[in-house]
Amino acid sequence: MDQNIKTGGISVQTEHIFPVIKKWLYSEKDIFLREIVSNAADAVTKLRRLSSLGQYEDNGETYRVDVILDKDAGTLTVSDNGIGMTEEELDRYLCQIALSGALDFIQKYEGDNQNNGIIGHFGLGFYSSFMVSDSVEVITKSYTNAPAVHWTCSEAGTYELTAGEREGHGTTVIMHISDEEKEYLEKFKLEGILDKYCSFMPVEIYFTDVAEEEQKSKKEKKKEEKEPPKPINDTTPLWLKNPSDCTPEEYKEFYRKVFRDYREPLFWIHINADYPLNFRGILYFPKITNEYESIEGQVKLYYNQVFVADNIKEVIPEYLLMLKGVLDCPELPLNVSRSYLQNNTYVSKMSAHIVKKVADKLNSLCNTEREEYEKVWNDIRTFVEYACMRDRKFYDRVKDSLLLELTDGKFATVKDYLEAAKESHENKVYYTSDKAAQAQYISMFEAQNIQVAVFDKNLDTQFLSQIETYDADVKYLRIDADVSDVLKGDEAAAEDPALKKLFVKVSGDEKLKVEFSALKDTNVPLLLTVSEESRRMEEMMKLYAMSGMGMMGAFPTESKLTVNTASPLIAKLGAMDGEKQEKTAAYLYRLALLSQRKLTADELKQFLADGYAILEMV
Ligand code: ADP
Repeated sequence: MDQNIKTGGISVQTEHIFPVIKKWLYSEKDIFLREIVSNAADAVTKLRRLSSLGQYEDNGETYRVDVILDKDAGTLTVSDNGIGMTEEELDRYLCQIALSGALDFIQKYEGDNQNNGIIGHFGLGFYSSFMVSDSVEVITKSYTNAPAVHWTCSEAGTYELTAGEREGHGTTVIMHISDEEKEYLEKFKLEGILDKYCSFMPVEIYFTDVAEEEQKSKKEKKKEEKEPPKPINDTTPLWLKNPSDCTPEEYKEFYRKVFRDYREPLFWIHINADYPLNFRGILYFPKITNEYESIEGQVKLYYNQVFVADNIKEVIPEYLLMLKGVLDCPELPLNVSRSYLQNNTYVSKMSAHIVKKVADKLNSLCNTEREEYEKVWNDIRTFVEYACMRDRKFYDRVKDSLLLELTDGKFATVKDYLEAAKESHENKVYYTSDKAAQAQYISMFEAQNIQVAVFDKNLDTQFLSQIETYDADVKYLRIDADVSDVLKGDEAAAEDPALKKLFVKVSGDEKLKVEFSALKDTNVPLLLTVSEESRRMEEMMKLYAMSGMGMMGAFPTESKLTVNTASPLIAKLGAMDGEKQEKTAAYLYRLALLSQRKLTADELKQFLADGYAILEMV
């Protein structure tokens, strides 16, 4: 054996470590590249720091990380010109990996496939390269100019250490990709991983495909000399900048690039939380074209510019995942595990801070940029409602900024609405769920100068029921829920028992309640109302049925018919008799139905037949 060659085993415990690395990280193999590239970027950052501290003389070098694919050789190489390692450091950092803490951890969590947090916690990131490699070579030279070393480690954890050759300081990691993991020799695959994990790392990263390079013509090479290739990453992402230095165009550009969404975001929140929270980020309210699309938000979590994961529920409340954005939290470990995040006080404080920032933004828009806010309200409404339903605290923060869209196209806060309605009614918000179908009712309210809000989204019934539990003082009533006192005139109305009987008969609904009242609007002979509570119940049942939870039996809705004694038509009807009276009563009843909802096929047939019969009698 050559005297200069040192050989060894990674440590006595390798038999524990290696299988665990392979098994635990199985589901997330792609991250090996993130680990190796971020080690390379860290090595550069460390050298920059030494230089800024005056401990290293920087000769104006351009720091970079190169990712080189050589498919023919079956290798993937990551090279940096960072701090490098001396032989002693290499031995300490890469050979003596099996720290007792890591072993305890493994023993404790063995079999728990969820938990891959170990890799980052115990400095095993480098070893994730063995998930895809038969062997890994490291050629490294310290910035201190100590001789370069060349280390080769097999999959089984046995290594060989020899003198290495390297021009400048830095480290080259050559991964010999194993036969089963050949996909990591595909350019497309690697570019995807680099794009996902390394897009914002703080050191310029260049990707080279050796095969492609060899095929390049002289002309192409010349061109490249003039126009050197660009790094694949943006080393100073927007979230690091001071919010006051960022332009709206920059925010929009960043959004387009990161989320590949070409619709403009509605607005954004730049979070810059200082000590002790210490995290930054930008959250965007995306433009939503329909109600259901809203679920597809995306919040990306970074650790010092290294991508960690998407949509981590533990870090921000689930309802905020409808937003799109980035959060960079150096306080969290690079490899966050769910169990680590749950019950972590830092995480819950961070989450609360984000919720507060989102609420603050809504309030400030409502108070200071009302016109803009009204413009986007219908786009953000579903999100805001959902958030209020999920989180009482969020509701309490934003309740004064919840807008009501009115039938005349204007907007009002609930407070403003109630203030304006004070004269006619107290603590009630009248709303319509269908402007076209309920037009008759709307015009009656409008005639009395009463504003009507529009709640026509699927979520609305649940939302209203929920906020009524938060704020028991304010009731929401659909305009056909009740004949409001404001629609009634001063005159007392006399009940006509014969007409009452007749309407019950022609409606075919024995339980129909009939009431007599003199309404202000004399053009409306009959008005049908359905109690708010029973209608909401019915809607909930329908939703359950739609979601496959089955019907719990049809829920009887309580309808009430108000006969308007101030209507000349009702006076005429009272004076009729026989078939004419019955047909006219039936016709009027179906007209009332029609102004409330669509007729069923049978109702429509009867309606037409009555109409023709009446015309014949004219
Ligand atoms: P971690 O990065 O979490 O500390 P790793 O197993 O990835 O764990 O790396 C262990 C150590 O090896 C690092 O802390 C660093 O000191 C050293 N190291 C790894 N890669 C490089 C590199 N490219 N250049 C210099 N040192 C490195």
